[in-house]
Amino acid sequence: MLSVSWKLSRQFPPLVAIPFALSLGAALPFADANDLPDIIYRDVAVIGGGASGAYAAVRIRDDFHKSVALIEKQNILGGMVDTYVDQKTGKTFDYGVQSFLNVSGATDFFARFNISIGSSSSSSSSVTEYIDFRTGSKVDFEPPSSSKQISAIAKFLEVIEPWESMLFPGYWNFPEPSDIPDDFLIPFGEFLTKHGLEDGAPIIYASTGLGVGNMSEVTTMFALQSFGWDMARGLTGKMGLFTPTSGGNQVLYDAIAKDLGDDVLYSSTVIDSRRTDFGVFLTVRNHKTNKVTLIIARRLLVAIEPTKDNVKTLDLSPVESSTLAKFTYSNEFAGLVDNPVFNESTYYFNLPSSAAPDNTLVYQEDPMVASFQYTGLENLFRVMVIGNTTTTADEAKALSQESFNTLLKSGRFITSGQEQELSWAAFATHGAMHARVTVDQVKAGFFQDLYKLQGARSTWWTGGAFSANFQTQLWKFDEGLIPKILKGL
Ligand SMILES: Cc1cc2nc3c(=O)[nH]c(=O)nc-3n(C[C@H](O)[C@H](O)[C@H](O)COP(=O)(O)OP(=O)(O)OC[C@H]3O[C@@H](n4cnc5c(N)ncnc54)[C@H](O)[C@@H]3O)c2cc1C
Repeated sequence: MLSVSWKLSRQFPPLVAIPFALSLGAALPFADANDLPDIIYRDVAVIGGGASGAYAAVRIRDDFHKSVALIEKQNILGGMVDTYVDQKTGKTFDYGVQSFLNVSGATDFFARFNISIGSSSSSSSSVTEYIDFRTGSKVDFEPPSSSKQISAIAKFLEVIEPWESMLFPGYWNFPEPSDIPDDFLIPFGEFLTKHGLEDGAPIIYASTGLGVGNMSEVTTMFALQSFGWDMARGLTGKMGLFTPTSGGNQVLYDAIAKDLGDDVLYSSTVIDSRRTDFGVFLTVRNHKTNKVTLIIARRLLVAIEPTKDNVKTLDLSPVESSTLAKFTYSNEFAGLVDNPVFNESTYYFNLPSSAAPDNTLVYQEDPMVASFQYTGLENLFRVMVIGNTTTTADEAKALSQESFNTLLKSGRFITSGQEQELSWAAFATHGAMHARVTVDQVKAGFFQDLYKLQGARSTWWTGGAFSANFQTQLWKFDEGLIPKILKGL
């Protein structure tokens, strides 16, 4: 049964669109030979219902009164927000996103869905034990005192403050190659040493810096993307961090899902597309039902990491392909395990033995398990895995198992043993993030080339690779992007 749903604020040229869409559909294998695809018309199609895509869809539809279709591969919205709900007690634990930076406008977005928020507090009483997870040996690392670390972060903020508009909320003002600050292009460890900021390194690393792997070796501008201005403001009390007061962080995205209703196509991805200067034609398959929908939209917003796999069906031009292919990524995974051998008062943190006694600038190479951290729920511990560009979910799980066995055999837990299978209560593949390129590519004008893709062939790009990897910072980036997307509609 073919159905056509019209949701355009101004009518899309149907004579052009329908035959084109049908010709796309004709070649497709459907669930049933008699099932023709639905055809829907929208002002804006959005791919990816995580932080950047879900936010943009709400703003564009509800506040700018343009029709949207949001294509999301999972059966829920929220992307990297992973809230675990204890079935017995109903208590929640966020094992993905921990808290939201109070960037301007962020709390209003919660208020519109009547979600009450409170300041985020980490009330953990765990004692951090530094262990080399590769050998199981304790690392006698003594970090600087908390006050020394926070003072260093305040100084760090002073150093980086003049450069904020070059990287945030996106690369719109990224300097021409000859004007890039030298500090941007040196390894982050060297940058911290140059400015006498080594005391701040442990807190940068443990909060968000570890997402890039060996933080000391990463080019400073990309380390700044993984920590940066607002995190420094957050840690020095200049900016708040908040969370919903109940239900975990997923409550926001569940509320967005309710609001957007049938405008979200769940369990779906784009399997074929044509992008033109006057609109885009997307063939979308629901991977649960096999149902195919043709979306004809005047604009496309891509809100997923532009990895080779993610963009392979997006009808890329050679220039788009070669530009996006320059990115390399970390791959991140998080999960919960419930083996009762862990000590609930210990935060097991992975550092190389060379960190002892007080080297704040050495870290493990990726792929690595960053930590096992008590959640406060029964025996559940949160596991964080930082992978390299190619690390898969199976490899991340295998690495977690290996690190766990190493710690078990080395007597780091309350009971020792030879081997024990990790019991996973939850596992999430956050996938590619922290997109970065080489120093030579930055100097050759990569970010100017990247931003030339914005708006070309009716397509706009958001998400971490085009901005920074924090929820509310992406919302701010979207705020700047939305008027550009809607111009002329
Ligand atoms: C462990 C962890 C902890 C974090 N903690 C915080 C924190 O405390 N505070 C904070 O601000 N940020 C945090 N972040 C970072 C933050 O979550 C990300 O910056 C943010 O989610 C990125 O938003 P996005 O829209 O680019 O991608 P995502 O939120 O990942 O959304 C992408 C969406 O697209 C979907 N998708 C992917 N591929 C396709 C496809 N081909 N077709 C259709 N849909 C697709 C995905 O299922 C997902 O829903 C954390 C990240 C991780 C991994």
